[in-house]
Amino acid sequence: MLTVSNLTAGYGVPNILQGLDITVRPGEMVGLVGANGAGKTTLVRVLAGLLPARGGSITINGSDTTNVPAHARPKLGLAIVLENRNLFGELTVAENLRLAERAGANRPKKFDIPRIVEMFPAVGEKMAVRCDLLSGGQQQMVAIARALLLQPDVVIMDEPSTGLAPKVVKAILEVLRGLCSEGMSIVLIEQNIGIASSVTQRAYVLSTGRIVHHVADGGWPAFLHDPHLVSRH
Ligand code: ATP
Repeated sequence: MLTVSNLTAGYGVPNILQGLDITVRPGEMVGLVGANGAGKTTLVRVLAGLLPARGGSITINGSDTTNVPAHARPKLGLAIVLENRNLFGELTVAENLRLAERAGANRPKKFDIPRIVEMFPAVGEKMAVRCDLLSGGQQQMVAIARALLLQPDVVIMDEPSTGLAPKVVKAILEVLRGLCSEGMSIVLIEQNIGIASSVTQRAYVLSTGRIVHHVADGGWPAFLHDPHLVSRH
């Protein structure tokens, strides 16, 4: 579903991302964990098309996406929920959602606004409210809802738990888990290893721009009990 091969990227010299290989299959939730400065945000920017790859490739659904402009990536099945959520703050929730629905209109339809409201009742209650007046948790739900209305096959979630109450995080993770069981692929970028290990099947550990460890399916307990491995994150 998503394949990243030998990806390099950066801002100056040397590269920040130094040859990343990542594979995500349909229906998987895969973690990408790493400490501050590991290169997580840089990877998200390259996946989104906001920063060019310097080498290697990104393939979505078998299509080489490496040099596709940012605005065209959703058409190939990729949606990204940025850490700052990137909502149109002066527009209402309904307006934000309708814009996304329109942008996803050429894709096979899996989500519509009634389904979104079912998934996130809190979003349904705030349809007429400007996004900049919502709480952080409500904004995160709208950002996820907007991504889903692009009808993606792969969603990249950049630190969705940041600044949110544990109860809200739990509700969001539950929704993400349900989406994977329907076949959606999710990459959860997460600094908090407790959260990543509670919800992902497997994970890549990023450190100074390299994948230094892969937590295989079923490998979280061993990882969490190995202080050497945990300290690499
Ligand atoms: P955090 O969790 O703190 O966001 P991160 O894992 O997302 O960390 P990045 O933000 O990708 O890490 O940063 C990786 C490296 O790239 C850091 O050394 C950082 O200083 C550098 N960096 C990030 N953005 C820029 C930029 N716009 N120009 C130059 N260097 C940058």
